Amino acid sequence: MTATVGARHAARERSGAGSVAGEVALWIAAAAGVVCLVLASLALALDITLMMFRTGSMAPTIPSGSVAVVREVRGVLQDVDRGEESPDRLAGYLRDAVLLPTAEEGRLQWRLEAPADRRLAVRVVLAWHELEESRPGRLRSCGNPECRLFLIDRSHANRAQWCSMAVCGNRMKARRHYERKRQAAAG
Ligand SMILES: [Zn+2]
Repeated sequence: MTATVGARHAARERSGAGSVAGEVALWIAAAAGVVCLVLASLALALDITLMMFRTGSMAPTIPSGSVAVVREVRGVLQDVDRGEESPDRLAGYLRDAVLLPTAEEGRLQWRLEAPADRRLAVRVVLAWHELEESRPGRLRSCGNPECRLFLIDRSHANRAQWCSMAVCGNRMKARRHYERKRQAAAG
């Protein structure tokens, strides 16, 4: 599964301040227990090419339109996370979605039923919620307002702001530095 490998690779690349954006994919997959579809949606979050995605028994077919909805819901989740939106905004995406307990393949599972174009987005919302519950205050969107990634902070201080210090952290620091210089020059 290329997305998983990609995510692991990304996780290695972004080891900083205990916040590892790449690992979000793995965490959410584990937390939600819906491995491949969630990874597919997170592949988007991590900007890993969705086309590479393939799995055995689940073999998800991704209806056209659902990629756009996933991008949209990711943006809403970020706005909710930043306190700019109420979680009520998610209601529209969750409409008509049902989780059914089933006994399949020798174990109990939850099967999600939702309109095809929103199914992936519903999974993203569920995975997000699961992480909010299981690791309260640890999942947050990157502090760079232009960044679309989430991070899980596993550091003791729990003050990580960036998906990656090397990318967003340094970029935001440079921006602040530039702003301060500009203001000093103007004043
Ligand atoms: Zn970032």
